[in-house]
Amino acid sequence: MAVKNVMEIVVSDVLRDSKKQLNLVCDCERCMDDIFADALNNLPPRYIVNPDHQPYVRAVHETDRDGAINVLRVVTQAATLVGKQPRCNHFNKN
Ligand SMILES: [Zn+2]
Repeated sequence: MAVKNVMEIVVSDVLRDSKKQLNLVCDCERCMDDIFADALNNLPPRYIVNPDHQPYVRAVHETDRDGAINVLRVVTQAATLVGKQPRCNHFNKN
């Protein structure tokens, strides 16, 4: 199956571009994955079949700018949630 959720690419872009302004408690791989997963769970998926997905990614980014889907808002919420209770080893050593 060659089905891809374009939202994964969009969230990954937003997460990378906005990392500094998110004021992350921890930015290890586990925490970033948790933020990524939580954000995706709160966004409508955009599945495509064609692996040449760049136009779709752009389309989703443009929709986001119009405020229909606020990816950054959802990513920020996810970062806050994960930051309150990080599940990685950095905070769970005892
Ligand atoms: Zn962490």
